[in-house]
Amino acid sequence: MSVVAIVGRPNVGKSTLFNRIIGQRRAIVEDVPGVTRDRNYAEVTRYSTPFILIDTGGFEPISEDRLLVQMREQSQLAVEEADVILMVMDGREGLTPSDVEVVSGLRRAGKPVFYVINKVDGPKQDAETVDFYSLGVDKVHAISAEHGRGVSDLMDEVLAVL
Ligand code: GDP
Ligand code: MG
Repeated sequence: MSVVAIVGRPNVGKSTLFNRIIGQRRAIVEDVPGVTRDRNYAEVTRYSTPFILIDTGGFEPISEDRLLVQMREQSQLAVEEADVILMVMDGREGLTPSDVEVVSGLRRAGKPVFYVINKVDGPKQDAETVDFYSLGVDKVHAISAEHGRGVSDLMDEVLAVL
C-alpha cells in the first residue's frame, strides 16, 4: 500500500490537514510495529484506493534547538517511509528559513513532493502563495486545512501519482 507523509515545521497545520483528509473514514493504525511514538498513522480510502497517511511532527512541546533536529529526523524518516510527500508551509507567515531547509532535504529523496501552502482561507489570500515559487518549484497547492478549501483538488492530484 502506498504511504503519503505530511511534513513541515510546527504550527503550519499538518495535523489539521491529516484530520481533514481522514475525515470520517478514519481507520487508525496506531500500533504499526516499528514506528516511532510521535507519529500518527491512518489508513484512508479515496475513490477505492487505500493508502497510509502519516502525520509527522512531535506532539509534545520541545526546545528550539531540539526542534530543528527533530524536523530533520522527521523529514528524513518520511522520505524513507513515504512514496509521496506533502510538504506543508504557512501562507500567512510566508516562506521561512526552516521551510527552505526542509525542502532541500526532501529534494534529495527523488520522490514526488507536493508543496502545500496552508491557511489560504479565501481568494484574498491567494496572492500569498507567490512567495513560495522562490523555492524553484513548478507548482504550489493553496489550501485551507481548517475550512477544506483546495484539499479535495490536492488529494485528486496525489491519488494520480499513487
Ligand atoms: P501542526 O503543528 O503543523 O500539526 O499544526 P496544527 O494542525 O496543530 O495547527 C496549528 C494551528 O494552525 C492551529 O491553531 C490551527 O487551528 C491553525 N490552522 C490549521 N490549518 C489552518 C487553516 O487552514 N487556516 C487557518 N487560519 N488556521 C489553520
Ligand atoms: Mg501536529
